[in-house]
Amino acid sequence: MEKTNYFVNFVNSKMDKLIDTKKARDFLKLLMESERIVMTCHVRPDGDAIGSTLGLWHLLRTLGKEATVVVPDKAPPSLSFLPGFKEIGVYTVHKEFCEKTIGESDLIICCDFNIPSRQDNLAPVVQNARCRKVLIDHHTEPSDFTDLVFSYPRMSSTCELVFRIIAAMGLYEHVDRDCATCLLTGIITDTRNFTVNVKYPDIYDILMRLLEKDVDKDRIIKEALNTRSLNSLKLEAYALSQKMEIFPDHRCALITLDKDELKEFSYEKGDTEGLVNKPLEVKGMVYSIFLREDPDCVKISGRSCDDFPVSEICKELYGGGGHLQAAGAEFYGPLEECRKILVDNMNRFDKYLK
Ligand code: MN
Repeated sequence: MEKTNYFVNFVNSKMDKLIDTKKARDFLKLLMESERIVMTCHVRPDGDAIGSTLGLWHLLRTLGKEATVVVPDKAPPSLSFLPGFKEIGVYTVHKEFCEKTIGESDLIICCDFNIPSRQDNLAPVVQNARCRKVLIDHHTEPSDFTDLVFSYPRMSSTCELVFRIIAAMGLYEHVDRDCATCLLTGIITDTRNFTVNVKYPDIYDILMRLLEKDVDKDRIIKEALNTRSLNSLKLEAYALSQKMEIFPDHRCALITLDKDELKEFSYEKGDTEGLVNKPLEVKGMVYSIFLREDPDCVKISGRSCDDFPVSEICKELYGGGGHLQAAGAEFYGPLEECRKILVDNMNRFDKYLK
C-alpha cells in the first residue's frame, strides 16, 4: 500500500473516539518515516507488556517495517504460545544484539511502563538512544522521557490502548490474526478475563473486533491465565489456609510469605501471581495486601475493589504506587517490620471505605 493511502484511511477512520486525533496522526507519521523500529517494555514482563510489544511487532511487519521487540529480562513461559515469542530480544540473554538493535533504530516505542527505571539495566540503553521515542502506557503519572506520549490511565491495559491507537490511525485492516492474538492476551491478562479494570464499555467492541480476526480466545485464557505448576497451586492453598489474616474492621486481608515458606514450595518467579486477588472473593472484603520476602527486599502487592485506593497505601506507607485498585511497592527491611507498618497504620485508610 502506498504511503498516501494510510492518510486517506486515517481521515476515513471513525473506529476510535478516545484517542486524540492529532496524536494518532503524529504517531502514524512517525511510523511511516521510520524503517527500523524497536518495541520495549518493563522488567519482569507480563501478558500486557509482551502482548502490546509483540502486537505492534506483527502490525509493523505487515506494514513492511524492520521491527524488533527488546525486553529487559525473560518473559514467563506461560506466554511462549504467543506468535513471535521466540523472536524477542532479551537483554539479560542477548545483550549485544539488543544494544546493537536499539543503537541502529529510528524509533523506540515504550510500552506498559511510566518511568525509565522500570526497565532496570536496559533503561540506560534506551535512554541513551538518540532516535525518537513514543510512550504507550496506562499507568498514572508518566515521566517525560519520550517525544510523543499516549498515557491513558483509565484503559484496562496497554493492549487496549494499542488497539485503539491502531484503530484511530485507520490501520485496523492491517491487524492480522497474530497481532490480534497478542493484543487480546494483554487485555485478558490485565483484566483477568474482563473481571477487573474494565472502565470503557466499548472494550467489548474491541473484543468483537479482535475475534473477527479469528483469534482463539479460549486458548489465550487457558495458556496465559489458567495454567500453573503444581507447586504454585499448593503454595497458594497454603497461603490462603495458613497465612491469611483478616481485619474485619478495615475490610482488609493480609498474606505474608517468608523465604523459608517460599523455599518449602520450591518457589519460582510468577508462582504467586494472582494470589493477592484471592481474598477479594470473600464477601465484604475491600482490599488485600500480599507481602513476599524476596532475596533483596519485601515485595508488596495490593489489590482492591469498590474504588478503594490501595495505591495510596503502597505510596504513603512504602513509597510505591500503581493503579487505584492494583498497586505495589518494595520494602528494604525485615518482613515483620513491613507487616507492622501496615497493621499499625490501617486505620488511616478507613476513610476510603464506603
Ligand atoms: Mn499493563
